[in-house]
Amino acid sequence: MIKRFCDYINKVFNFGKEIQNIKDNRELPEIPTKSIWLSGMFMFVLRLSSLNAVDTELHLPKRMEKLIGKRKPSGDSIGRVFTKMDTDNIRNFLCKINHKLKRNKRLKTNWPMRFVAIDGHELFSSRCRCCDKCLTRKITVNDEEVIEYYHRVVACHLIGFDLALPLDVEPIQPGEGEVIAGKRLIERVFKNYSKFFDGIVGDGLYLEAPFFNFCIKHKKHVIAVLKSERRILMQDAEGIFKTMKPIILKEKNLTAKIWDCEGFESMDGVNKKIRVLHSEEKEIKRRRKGNEWVEELEEHNWWWATTIPSYILPTKLLWQAGHDRWDIENDLFNDLGNHWDMNHCFKHEPNAIINFLLTLFIAFVLIQSFHKLNIKPQLRSKFSLISIAIQFLTSLASCNFVAIWLVPLPAT
Ligand SMILES: [Zn+2]
Repeated sequence: MIKRFCDYINKVFNFGKEIQNIKDNRELPEIPTKSIWLSGMFMFVLRLSSLNAVDTELHLPKRMEKLIGKRKPSGDSIGRVFTKMDTDNIRNFLCKINHKLKRNKRLKTNWPMRFVAIDGHELFSSRCRCCDKCLTRKITVNDEEVIEYYHRVVACHLIGFDLALPLDVEPIQPGEGEVIAGKRLIERVFKNYSKFFDGIVGDGLYLEAPFFNFCIKHKKHVIAVLKSERRILMQDAEGIFKTMKPIILKEKNLTAKIWDCEGFESMDGVNKKIRVLHSEEKEIKRRRKGNEWVEELEEHNWWWATTIPSYILPTKLLWQAGHDRWDIENDLFNDLGNHWDMNHCFKHEPNAIINFLLTLFIAFVLIQSFHKLNIKPQLRSKFSLISIAIQFLTSLASCNFVAIWLVPLPAT
């Protein structure tokens, strides 16, 4: 299985050639950057969870050398070299992989628009270890106030597709808010993924005129959660909605009453009229309680503000796009955090943190692509994404092969 994975990523994403572009700034390196980066990437692919575990794997004969070559680094040196790697090289590689999937028509949609979601996420915290880019907060432990250090990032990913594609990530610097880091991230995403998407979905933090205008200037639409702090816009919308009949939407166990109106001018400083969508939802959820299943009624109230006119995105699709934003928490961050060690601190150094994250994103996109696009449906039903990693590890031990990017090209 692991050989098949290597052949697949090499054929589809030109993996062997692209990894030559990953560089670091060591003088006279003993072990090639490629071997070190591959050790980090396969740590994620094989779900080894820590540099210690990779170190153990690297010490076993006839294992990791099949993937990274004969010069094997220690776990410590992987961490050290990740601090020195050029982040742009790794980011560009992720960008090329995502674009290749789009070019290969793997991101087809019936939707009139494609969306990305933007959201903040805390990686890890510590009360003793810190670096000069740590964020800090005061917390109370045993009645004593102590300082906690932590790292937080903003990430952007494509929503509404069966492949969860992370596009990019940006650290939040000490003393700045999430939206400032978000703008830096989105500016780069606009440049690197200009034709990849049409709109951005964010939470209430992003409902501010500078962010809306910034997106409008780049010819992208925005959907943001409307919170009560935006009282005037919400009051205006409430006033109009009282005079309107809601659209009723029924889906499985969910019933939603939806109000949708455009043309609001009450969002100060925004260079466009705003559309507001409100939904009151009732959903019957089945939950396991003790030995039995019980049904519980959940009620939710949603408000969104957007620049998208209804002739481009009708009510139901706007409602769905607003909900899809939660993909970033439900799929990407939860999934990557719970199963793929996104929140683990492999090396507490600002550059290494982002390099490991981008490498994880590459590993995650490659495994998903292999799982969804290369494995036949009958076989896929037997293997989850996680069990694929177990299969990889087993086949790494038992298969006699060398990854295709380590095979020298025949002399011509
Ligand atoms: Zn730090």
